[in-house]
Amino acid sequence: MDPLTHYMLALLVASRQGLDRERTRAFLVASLVPDIDLVMVVFGWSVLTRTHATVLGNLTVLPVLAVVVAWLLSRNPGRFRRVLPVCLAGVLLHTAIDLGVGLPILWEGNARCLRPFSEAVCLVSTWGLLPREMFIAAQILLLAVGWGGFAVMVSRGVRPWAALRAPPEDGN
Ligand SMILES: [Zn+2]
Repeated sequence: MDPLTHYMLALLVASRQGLDRERTRAFLVASLVPDIDLVMVVFGWSVLTRTHATVLGNLTVLPVLAVVVAWLLSRNPGRFRRVLPVCLAGVLLHTAIDLGVGLPILWEGNARCLRPFSEAVCLVSTWGLLPREMFIAAQILLLAVGWGGFAVMVSRGVRPWAALRAPPEDGN
């Protein structure tokens, strides 16, 4: 999915979980980070499709990614321990959405999320369990929730991106 949809879905989950500002921010950032390799698009579409998610979609790399995000956002052992669980949840939410409903467009077989332990392709849509149309429908639904939710919030004067601002320092 695109980063805006990932962001809005994570915001929805965070609001349902009643997370405080610090954890909400950490969860949102972590849920976006697996897509930072999209910057590879500057080297061309074929480079992007060959590299996207090869490293950052790997289930063995995701916990490391969560630790890095948690530390960069907290820079303090107490806060680090508070935000680490939601950072783990954030990167896993992102990858679960991508592998669960994603189509092999940006992946081109890169979705070998268990490397180096297995060469299995983790993309559910490639397993032949359900018709391709089901995955397209699921993607359209998530896009509608993400982009639609964004449009509704903004039209009501609510800024969804405000949740990314750092909470006030509490002296920890
Ligand atoms: Zn992604």
